[in-house]
Amino acid sequence: MEGDLGADGLEEISPFWPQTEMLRRRSRLDESRFEKPGERGRSFHVPCYSISAKPTLLDVKEHLEPVELLTKVSRTAVKIVAHRTLPRSGIGHERPILPPPPSPTASSFTPFDLSSPLWHDRHHMPSPNHVTPDILALDFDGVLCDGMGEYFETSRRTYAKAWPGAPVPGDDLLPAFRRLRPVIMTGWEMPLLLRAIGQGQSEASILRDWAKVRDAQAASGPGSREQLVGLLGKTLDAVRREWIAADRAGWIARNTAYCRLEELRQLVAEPERAVLVTTKEGEFAHLILDEWRVHLADIQGKEAGTHKCDNLRALISAFAAAHGRRPRVWFVEDRFETLEHVTTHPDLEDVGLYLAAWGYNTPQTRATATASKRVRLLELEQFRQGVSAWP
Ligand SMILES: [Mg+2]
Repeated sequence: MEGDLGADGLEEISPFWPQTEMLRRRSRLDESRFEKPGERGRSFHVPCYSISAKPTLLDVKEHLEPVELLTKVSRTAVKIVAHRTLPRSGIGHERPILPPPPSPTASSFTPFDLSSPLWHDRHHMPSPNHVTPDILALDFDGVLCDGMGEYFETSRRTYAKAWPGAPVPGDDLLPAFRRLRPVIMTGWEMPLLLRAIGQGQSEASILRDWAKVRDAQAASGPGSREQLVGLLGKTLDAVRREWIAADRAGWIARNTAYCRLEELRQLVAEPERAVLVTTKEGEFAHLILDEWRVHLADIQGKEAGTHKCDNLRALISAFAAAHGRRPRVWFVEDRFETLEHVTTHPDLEDVGLYLAAWGYNTPQTRATATASKRVRLLELEQFRQGVSAWP
């Protein structure tokens, strides 16, 4: 009985322990008086109670008050109801399993059917301790790296090249740039954000409808929207390369990790493959991670795919080809829209999705993630402890 209930059950039945233990001790005492083996197992009398030689579930059932037995059954049923199904990601979803209705004929013990498909799929069953993904896909900016100082300076230098006649944005724009960084999806948008702030666009309108503000800025030139977007993207990367060539250590110093580097090294060593999936050029993330001595199995920058869904698909296909099975994938990202987009693709429905609460997102976004049935809000304190501490 105790073994069936587990640790919680032990705690729950502890008020009755003295009674049952007393019966067991009496049982052992009286059992030792039998001289012939054949006499074992017979019922005999002790003061107040009639029990068999070997305590069984039946003994407990007979000698507990009805109210005690009801309490045990009720608690056990609650444990079953609380059990959740797990998709291949290993992350619990809101799909509670109700206990099966009691069968009137089920009076004897039924052994497990090991030929059942349930047992063939044991790789994906919940571990009693914790689940580790096969592939951990990590965003870079806002998840591993806080590069706010670098973004601002690179954007300012790019701005000066794209709009040479305009005054270069001053440091006074940095606080607003920092607050509004969550609207940015890719690098070329950052000089446009600086321009919008410098022209006096309200922060509320930028937060509410960045795509509209951004496109209006992009349409104002120079050149067409497509030409300006192309120019900004190329100039941003060129500015970075120039800065790195002139002052590599200074450039790297503008990028800081959110947690201790040792914690990061341990985290990326946990899954079979920890992979970076970023909209940044992979070469820049590479430089920083090499400096940090954080080694990932792969770095997929913006050159590797137009959308992170494509990166995830490529990772899944490569793993399946090498291992003959679909991997358990977890994806950590600080942009909720990106995670939400993944949820619209049925072929990625088993990917575990985590929003990095410490990254470039707003309290409203984090509240949305908290209410999401699919996306999990991940706190930095949980992240740095390794996947076993994740929700
Ligand atoms: Mg990010």
